[in-house]
Amino acid sequence: MNTEKSTEMFSVAGNLMPGGVNSPVRAYRAVGMTPRFIDRAKGCEIYDVDGNAYIDYVGSWGPMIFGHAVPEVVEAICGAARRGTSFGAPTEGENLLAQMIIDMVPCAEMVRLVNSGTEAVMSAVRAARGFTGRDLIVKFEGCYHGHSDGLLVKAGSGLLTENVPTSAGVPKAFAAATLTADYNDRESVEKIFKEYGPNIAALIVEPVAANMGVVAPKPGFLQFLRKITAEYGTVLIFDEVITGFRLAPGGAQEYYGVTPDMATLGKIVGGGMPMAAYCGRGDIMSTVSPSGPVYQAGTLSGNPVAVAAGLATLKKIREDVGLYDRLEEKGRVLEKAFTDAIDRYKIPACINRVGSLMSVFFTEGPVETYGDVEKSDLTMFKKYFASMLEDDIYIAPSQFEAMFLSDAHSQEALNRTVRAIDRAFSTLPGA
Ligand code: PMP
Repeated sequence: MNTEKSTEMFSVAGNLMPGGVNSPVRAYRAVGMTPRFIDRAKGCEIYDVDGNAYIDYVGSWGPMIFGHAVPEVVEAICGAARRGTSFGAPTEGENLLAQMIIDMVPCAEMVRLVNSGTEAVMSAVRAARGFTGRDLIVKFEGCYHGHSDGLLVKAGSGLLTENVPTSAGVPKAFAAATLTADYNDRESVEKIFKEYGPNIAALIVEPVAANMGVVAPKPGFLQFLRKITAEYGTVLIFDEVITGFRLAPGGAQEYYGVTPDMATLGKIVGGGMPMAAYCGRGDIMSTVSPSGPVYQAGTLSGNPVAVAAGLATLKKIREDVGLYDRLEEKGRVLEKAFTDAIDRYKIPACINRVGSLMSVFFTEGPVETYGDVEKSDLTMFKKYFASMLEDDIYIAPSQFEAMFLSDAHSQEALNRTVRAIDRAFSTLPGA
């Protein structure tokens, strides 16, 4: 495969941006390869600057539920841009989008639009703290909630007390206000609430963990979180930046039938433009400025071009009754391809899938916790990744990311992917 231009551009980029990229995982460090510089994308296909075409399962890391360059969305963006790209003043589009989110997402009584998932989470946490008058928050190891200081934290050796920043530049004092529990482990949550419950402002969780690879909540886990947070007056926040509008029109909260107090949305809600949102109970959202004392603002918040893209996308979702069944069916096809390949070549691997989100882990499984995820054989992943890319299948260059299916993945694209999976597994050590 010719990657001459990508290689040249990446070498130029290295002197211009840290690691040559504007977001770390794009640099392909985990797989030790050169990232592809992208020229354009359409439907389920993405094209690099050397003219290679790939079937895309990154989907811009989640937004592209209908595939790339969807005509209705592109039209909406162009139409909005022609009327002006930003006003810093209210527009009717914001009303329409907020109403649409309130109609679709069970917990949403009020909404605030922001520019990124990071900002949505940071703001939701601040609102929860303002509402409860408490400082502590609980998150789960292996869940990602953007790069704000208080959320770049993982459990230290003494689970409850020694939480450590996962990034340089995060003051220990900030990390100290974040307690870390184990995803899918009720006991770890109970322990924390027993000791700190009355001081915990919020518990935040990815209802389906999708930033340590895809890990589904065990039956009853989300219900348990709902119950224990209600008991202690803690605000339950579902971070639905990935799962929102992806698992169902109302996200994971609709899919699993558990309604949190607040939710954060991103990716799909902006139709591929930089937009995100936080939403939730009216009494909590009313603490946000200028209604209440919790400050949060944004020059480009509710940007008309991004709002137009979001509106067009959500409208398409609402009108398409068969969408989630089709995504489920496509998901099943790929899941079967993975299980068949694992069986045929006796590879110690397993597949986790929820609807159109999935991950293959190179460990026997089942993978239900962060500890399980950590058992994955990363050398095996690297080989699998390289083989898939060689066969023009574009997946995330990391064991710890999801594979995103879109409605644009055709039967033919799926068939090619099934063959690539079989070939990739046939080349793995021990096959
Ligand atoms: N929350 C979750 C669950 C995410 O997956 C992400 C990003 N992948 C974020 C928050 C942060 O969103 P952004 O990258 O838009 O800041």
